[in-house]
Amino acid sequence: MSYSDECGAECCGEIDFTKTPVAELYGSNSFSNAVMKQRLPKNIFKEILAVQAGEKELSLEVAEVVAASIRDWAVEKGATHYTHWFHPLTGLTAEKHDSFISPAGDGTVIMEFSGKELIKGEPDASSFPSGGLRATFEARGYTAWDVTSPAFLKQDRTGLTLCIPTAFISYYGQALDKKVPLLKSIDALNKQAIRVLRGIGNTTSKRVYTTVGPEQEYFLVDKKFYDQRPDLILTGRTVFGVLPAKGQEMEDHYFGALKERVADFMRELNYELWKVGIPAKTQHNEVAPNQFEIAPIYTNSTAAVDGNQLVMETIRSVARRHGMEGLLHEKPFAGVNGSGKHNNWSIATDDGINLFEPGENPESNARFLLFAAAVVEAVDRYALLIRSSTATAANDFRLGANEAPPAIISIFFGGPLTEILDNIAEGKSSGKSEADAKIKIGVTSLPSLPKDVSDRNRTSPFAFTGNKFEFRMVGSSQSIATPNTYLNAAVAQVLSEFADKLEKASDKNDAIQAIIKESYAKHRKVVFNGNGYSDEWVREAERRGLPNVRNTPDALSVIIRSETIALFEAHKIFTKEELESRYHIYLEKYSKQVNIEAGVTIDLARRYIFPAITSFAGSLASDAAALAAIGAANVPQAKRAKKIADLSAELYDETAKLETALAEAQGIDDPAAQAKAYFEKVRPGMDAVRSRADALERIVAKAAWPFPGYEELLFKL
Ligand code: ADP
Ligand code: MG
Repeated sequence: MSYSDECGAECCGEIDFTKTPVAELYGSNSFSNAVMKQRLPKNIFKEILAVQAGEKELSLEVAEVVAASIRDWAVEKGATHYTHWFHPLTGLTAEKHDSFISPAGDGTVIMEFSGKELIKGEPDASSFPSGGLRATFEARGYTAWDVTSPAFLKQDRTGLTLCIPTAFISYYGQALDKKVPLLKSIDALNKQAIRVLRGIGNTTSKRVYTTVGPEQEYFLVDKKFYDQRPDLILTGRTVFGVLPAKGQEMEDHYFGALKERVADFMRELNYELWKVGIPAKTQHNEVAPNQFEIAPIYTNSTAAVDGNQLVMETIRSVARRHGMEGLLHEKPFAGVNGSGKHNNWSIATDDGINLFEPGENPESNARFLLFAAAVVEAVDRYALLIRSSTATAANDFRLGANEAPPAIISIFFGGPLTEILDNIAEGKSSGKSEADAKIKIGVTSLPSLPKDVSDRNRTSPFAFTGNKFEFRMVGSSQSIATPNTYLNAAVAQVLSEFADKLEKASDKNDAIQAIIKESYAKHRKVVFNGNGYSDEWVREAERRGLPNVRNTPDALSVIIRSETIALFEAHKIFTKEELESRYHIYLEKYSKQVNIEAGVTIDLARRYIFPAITSFAGSLASDAAALAAIGAANVPQAKRAKKIADLSAELYDETAKLETALAEAQGIDDPAAQAKAYFEKVRPGMDAVRSRADALERIVAKAAWPFPGYEELLFKL
């Protein structure tokens, strides 16, 4: 493999991936079920399977055996440390490393790892955001092994660390992370979906779980340019910058041939992901220049959530080995597309049924239509909540900006399916050929389903894509835990209401038909198959009464509404107290993010742009004076110097105004009012500074501009 000159082969690790067969490499650093099956005594492995299926709790005795086995496996592979690996509310993953060594008392050490250390770690909870749930004096928090997501070995240049995916809870059992609520939401959905399945005559499925396949978008930039952009380093995005004459209008990047340097990077990225058991499958150029996508094959949602965190980390670490930086920010560059994450989501049963797979026979069709109707109702009723799961300062730049879905939640089903559901809602038979359209289930008729329903609509925030739903609002840098938690909870609630009706019904088939009819008639306003990017849709959605929430502070307010609290309390996912704490954490995170960006904007304007343009304008002015001295009148140097002087005066004023707005926002105590001030006053102030700086970048000599521009960042790799 060839690597970039800056990096040199020695920083790319010693393994020559190309020499190891993929089948051998795959999962070699994952303590997967296959490894457990091989290494654990039979009865212990069976216990683990039962714990994974939610049938049992993990006992300390079983944990002791598993811990010894994980330790042996990890130490054989060369690991020296272990960490509980968890998702605090920072949105990142956190690690606290401990080594396996334990002094034997005679000057030697043994490698130790106990069952207790496997199932429970004890990080200092007070240093992670808890929204008031933890005070510093009661710092204890626990991380507990999430058995549904395999332990893995993380490799850095000099060694390996055993990572144990965990849930993070306070001493009093409150969730301090994104994993605990996700696990609870899966339980809730399982419970209600099984009730519905029983209600429609399924006696075989014992458990349902959600499956997720997240498609991840990102940018790559050359590290030497990145290092000269303090805004990219500090905020993940450029707060200044103008597109060169070429942007993404040629549409020549999407699915284009990979540059060799990028192909090398992607190959190593795949190998690294495969090693930890992440089934990286698809990769391609995305729409914007230097923008890319990677998608693994879907898995159960906890493993997918952990896997996606690892994908993001690995993109960044592998990019650095190749002299590049991976940007996960939702909008690193103005004027070209931002990056999102498509959360492909479905519900599966333990006996292999995908509940969103349109069926082959009347029973499976009825099942599909019932579950599809539940999603429609859930997404309509809980649109605000689902929208809020994607609300971040960075994602505000994407949603509704004609490059990503609008901030309006709607569902795409495609023509044929929509017609069928409409017909059911209206009590009509479904179409052209009666015989073909009506299939009897007992006394009730439900239509047969078209085989190919996989037509695509890339502008929909929530699209049915044949056998799964694709939630496309999620931001590229976000953890997918919360979007999935909210989605599962909303669907669980609707299913519980469906189940109530089914359990009471004397005729199941009539009940199925009636439930779909009633639910879909009421909620089909959320179904939209047209162009989600059009202005017409914004107006149409308003007529339909669909919410269009365009900014994060507004979007977050739903978290503490009474219907949200009722939903989460009913399904034991969040308490009111936990929701309130999360609301505050998310608001604060928004404010902090904008605060940093505004600070960086001011700093760069003052310490980089001003000095550069002042000396450039000065040299133009002295050139103009020298030319005037030899009799040249009305020279362009004078005109340019004047234009630059005018713009820099404006830049100066706008920077001062931004500073005032920022100070005002900083002084607000109430988190909601503060976030609003950052949105309403600080963000526009940043735009005003940026417009002057960008106008200057267009007329100041390239060599005089204080940092690399979009030309280098977006087109040179
Ligand atoms: P597209 O770009 O057309 O959306 P991709 O192939 O890039 O399609 O991504 C589709 C994603 O959906 C993959 O991660 C795939 O594994 C995932 N997926 C497929 N079936 C399911 C399912 N039943 N549940 C969840 N995700 C799924
Ligand atoms: Mg997609």
